[in-house]
Amino acid sequence: MGKTKINVTKTFLPPQIEFNTKLENAWNENWITNRGELVVKLENELKSYLSTKNIIATANGTLPLHIAIKGLGLKGEIITTPFSYVATTSSIVWEGCTPVFVDIHPEFLTINETKIESVITKNTSAILATHVFGNPCNVVAIDRIAKKHNLRVIYDAAHCFGVKYDGQSIFNFGDVSTCSFHATKVFHTGEGGALFCSDDLFHKMYYHHNFGHDGAENFFGLGTNAKMSELQAAMGLSVLPYFETIISERKKVVQFYNKQLNFEKLKTLKTRNHTEWNYSYYPIILESEETLLKVKNVLNKNNIFPRRYFYPSLNRLPYINSYSMPNAESISTRVLCLPLYVGLNEKILSTIVSLINKQLC
Ligand SMILES: *Cc1c(COP(=O)(O)O)cnc(C)c1O
Repeated sequence: MGKTKINVTKTFLPPQIEFNTKLENAWNENWITNRGELVVKLENELKSYLSTKNIIATANGTLPLHIAIKGLGLKGEIITTPFSYVATTSSIVWEGCTPVFVDIHPEFLTINETKIESVITKNTSAILATHVFGNPCNVVAIDRIAKKHNLRVIYDAAHCFGVKYDGQSIFNFGDVSTCSFHATKVFHTGEGGALFCSDDLFHKMYYHHNFGHDGAENFFGLGTNAKMSELQAAMGLSVLPYFETIISERKKVVQFYNKQLNFEKLKTLKTRNHTEWNYSYYPIILESEETLLKVKNVLNKNNIFPRRYFYPSLNRLPYINSYSMPNAESISTRVLCLPLYVGLNEKILSTIVSLINKQLC
């Protein structure tokens, strides 16, 4: 195989001139942070592109999880999923709350909403669930459970830029939704993220992300520094015009895998009905960890580097004390995300597919 390394993803970079042009005024004004015109412009463009109500651009996709937990005043136990990136669990622990895991649905890979009620106690304050690989949780059922038990709902929607559920942005569900604009995500600002919430929560979330400031010399309350910089916003403003192209190019890759992989020996993600998906990841779920390692090794030998998203199951983290989660633990040992990005050509895709299929017969 070729010398070029094929990673699970490749950051989409806009023409450099477009990034530079966006920054011209920042140079003229000598202003590159503290919510300058580029951050405000990015927030406005995202709000109208996504049709969401309130957005706060942040320095990454982890800080909005912290701010959501703090801003909603959560205490005690937070019900969450064991199948996500570590940030979902670590932000709960970092904020002094206790994660209580509920196992996942084996096909949707999202939290199994039918098992949530059995773990609710008088100490439960919220549900923090992840829309895994851009696949929405059962937001309708979770909303019903939350209302019945007076719980808050946060969605880690880090993978969900561009995802619609039931005709509207998935970011409009829950009390708060968060997104990541990390360079490995479908839409990015290098590092970055956002928090989405309703009108009644906006003021609090907003001052939490900017040290609690009320102007230069007054303070509304406690805050941290989660601000996005002008440099990050310039990247976002340069990537956004390409987003539709990014999606349609990724869709072609997904369709190739869907057509060519041997689905007698593996499975991929099952997306929930009424979802307009964003082609963010291509997980394959193999029959055993042994098969996964065989597949991974042969790909690695050919300079192809899929990733084990997500491994280990988060209930196995060293700072967690939890019951076992059979589905999440089983799937996390058998799931591999295949290369998926703009510019992945058919020749490479054919190689990937034939290497995988050959291992499976
Ligand atoms: C990427 C990711 C995050 C963290 O986002 P950063 O921007 O890297 O801080 C949180 N949750 C999930 C599910 C992610 O995939």
